[in-house]
Amino acid sequence: MTYTQEVQKLFGARTLERLHEELDTPVIGACDVLVCGGGFAGITAAVSAARCGARVVLLERSGSLGGLASLGMVNYVTPYRDWFEQVVGGIGAEIIERLKETGGLEGEYDVTEEHPWLAERLGWKEELFGKTGGRTRRGVQFDSEQLKILADELTAQSGVEVLYHTQIVEARSEGGRVTLAVAETKSGRVAFRAKVFVDCTGDGDLAARAGAGFLKGREQDGKMLPVTSMFRIRGVDVARAMGYQRERREQYGYADLLKAAKAGGELDIPHSYILVRPTVYQDGLEVNGTRVAGIDGTDVFDLTKAEILVRRQAQQLVELFRRRVPGCEGAYLAEVAPLIGVRETRRIVGEYIIGDRDLPSGAKFPDSVGRGTIHVDIHNPSGDGYDIRPVRAGDWYEIPYRSLVAKGFFNLLTAGRCISATSVAQSGLRLYLNVFVSGQGAGTAAALLAREGCPAAKLDVSLLQSTLVKHGVKLCPDNN
Ligand SMILES: Cc1cc2nc3c(=O)[nH]c(=O)nc-3n(C[C@H](O)[C@H](O)[C@H](O)COP(=O)(O)OP(=O)(O)OC[C@H]3O[C@@H](n4cnc5c(N)ncnc54)[C@H](O)[C@@H]3O)c2cc1C
Repeated sequence: MTYTQEVQKLFGARTLERLHEELDTPVIGACDVLVCGGGFAGITAAVSAARCGARVVLLERSGSLGGLASLGMVNYVTPYRDWFEQVVGGIGAEIIERLKETGGLEGEYDVTEEHPWLAERLGWKEELFGKTGGRTRRGVQFDSEQLKILADELTAQSGVEVLYHTQIVEARSEGGRVTLAVAETKSGRVAFRAKVFVDCTGDGDLAARAGAGFLKGREQDGKMLPVTSMFRIRGVDVARAMGYQRERREQYGYADLLKAAKAGGELDIPHSYILVRPTVYQDGLEVNGTRVAGIDGTDVFDLTKAEILVRRQAQQLVELFRRRVPGCEGAYLAEVAPLIGVRETRRIVGEYIIGDRDLPSGAKFPDSVGRGTIHVDIHNPSGDGYDIRPVRAGDWYEIPYRSLVAKGFFNLLTAGRCISATSVAQSGLRLYLNVFVSGQGAGTAAALLAREGCPAAKLDVSLLQSTLVKHGVKLCPDNN
């Protein structure tokens, strides 16, 4: 699909007339690498490019960095340390270590806690993951506010110029070379020139507008993963509430409660399980429990509908907790994440499309920019339940550089949840540990491309890999 087709599909039937605008837009910046979108992908891309000597500008539509990890309140990196080793290195590991120093919590991570339905399957662990040798996984929960501050520090220290309140709305390209990214800012419309562009908007906004082809949703019906906004409740006796959850661990705390509430008409959420965790607030819990299916996160009408529904669902869940969960009698809804939890939208078609089997089978690539072990994590796009496709304990897959290069483009790369993959593979690649890998891979490649002046598809892969290793990326188990 192309951006023009997408716009036509969305607005075609609604168009009353057309407004032809003549614009006179100032071009205000020229840099080596322009990174668009400041989530974990954008932070790692921008910082790595700057550390490789590039002049980098990072544009972010909101007022802070972090994306879903800050404004989306998705503050959990699992599994940071895997059964056999800590797979992530480089800037990802640096961010997590620094977050631990400023209020992050590292904890034992049992896969059943992330995917409760696994607990219902006898022998699930060995069946799914192979022999773990009694080893465990560890995850890190962090404070989203501390992440915003750390990201400001990291970007400033590495010399990245950050511009907030700047939303990419258009891009210009000539003969496969992106020339300008156009943004609306609080102060008006401006354009940026760069040698290399890295799209880290999650939705592929820049690449789509530059004319790159993209895919959306499952092959069979185009459906995308459901939207979930995180929320926080406060006024909770956390010890009592978590005690209740622990006592019902085999049904992940709330499965029976949710079932009964749905049957009784108290709850209207297409979900059987919810994740509830303590927060940095002593009287607070954070809840991953809303779910709206059938939403396209690049469709403004769908987004509006989803925003209203997730708030209503959050309110229903708080009322249910107040009535039924010990310790939550005085609970109130403290905050629904200001950034809606979109998991999947455009996947920009690259020089390689990471396939359904590549992650579970532990595919290795000669142009690897890093490794991953986290499973494919498909939340049912049509309603209830999950489909997880694990990687055998001790094995890993690799993310190829070609999946970051927009097909046919001289100077356009992607990182984060919009890289080139099938819908199934995206369900694993969208997770933080892989986002760090694609972010640092794309940022490093962008700096080298700006220096070498060659087309993205012709970059010297051995130079890219040796630069990544020099900056702490773990390309193979030996350089642990
Ligand atoms: C409810 C939920 C729970 C999750 N749980 C986990 C989990 O436990 N572990 C895990 O690893 N992952 C989890 N994920 C997935 C993970 O949060 C995302 O896949 C990840 O944040 C993607 O990173 P990103 O940098 O690609 O995109 P994002 O975090 O979405 O960042 C994109 C950034 O780009 C900006 N932007 C967007 N459009 C524009 C534009 N046009 N111009 C300028 N800026 C723009 C946004 O404001 C944002 O800052 C979860 C996701 C959700 C929704």
